[in-house]
Amino acid sequence: MPQRLSDYLKREYGEKVYRLSLTSGCSCPNRDGSIVLPDGTQLKGGCTFCSEGGSGEFAARIAPITEQIEEAKERICKKTDARKFIAYFQSYTNTYGDPDKLFSLYKEAIDRSDIVALSIGTRPDCIGPEILDMLKELNKIKPVWIELGLQTIHESTAKAINRGYELPVFEDAYRRLKEAGITVIVHVILGLPGESKEDMLGTVRYLADLQPTLDGIKLQNLQILKGTRMYEQYLCNSPHFHIFSMEEYTDLIAECLALLPKETVVHRMTGDGPRKLLVEPLWTLDKKRVLNTLTRKCSKYFQE
Ligand code: SF4
Repeated sequence: MPQRLSDYLKREYGEKVYRLSLTSGCSCPNRDGSIVLPDGTQLKGGCTFCSEGGSGEFAARIAPITEQIEEAKERICKKTDARKFIAYFQSYTNTYGDPDKLFSLYKEAIDRSDIVALSIGTRPDCIGPEILDMLKELNKIKPVWIELGLQTIHESTAKAINRGYELPVFEDAYRRLKEAGITVIVHVILGLPGESKEDMLGTVRYLADLQPTLDGIKLQNLQILKGTRMYEQYLCNSPHFHIFSMEEYTDLIAECLALLPKETVVHRMTGDGPRKLLVEPLWTLDKKRVLNTLTRKCSKYFQE
């Protein structure tokens, strides 16, 4: 049985910990045309589901890190008595840049006493040796979580969504990160076009069986967002897409949770696309109803 993120954080830090969405200013090699496949094809345009915001619509504006942290904290502290925070860099590829500059940027965040951990979203093909050394240094100061956008283990889907790397690239990065003592969280999208339920469960089963054991997982339903290539494909060929109903999706989440080991922390169970961009599925906007349904169906699959 996996663990809830809220339980894990309370146990580790003794109280509720809040995420501050921050911006590193990095781009993404899958968007700027830097990825050239072994057959010479140059990839462009990014993953087909990725929006202009680089899969992180709630990140802060580009500004000095301390300023970003203060602004993000102010928003949270208006409504809560929050005291501990995770510096969270989600949008784009946050290890795609000069390792020294990135080190200074992230160190500025984690040197603060109110930041308890650093969470960095990236791609497995952007974990070179110098980046890994940089992450190891940061990990000596505060826990570093690396979030890898895998989405699926199936190569045909990975090609169709223009992910830009194959599964062995993920496996290599995963092994090196774990050997370096870094916490690894993997993102999965459920409902990618062309995938059956068995394919999706296959991805989760593969992650559940990883050795060393997976630290964390983010599960989310496919979201069709305006401005993405996926949206254009959806407009041209919507029968090819299976958009989950809430009941169907929450049943699937329960099946996924049942596969995960006790060491794995579940960081997310649905997508949270911005209202102004979200085309499907619109039921995700009713957060309270989704949360209640997930609680009803999934509580028994979590450690108490
Ligand atoms: S999802 Fe991530 S890896 Fe894919 S194009 Fe967007 S920022 Fe790049």
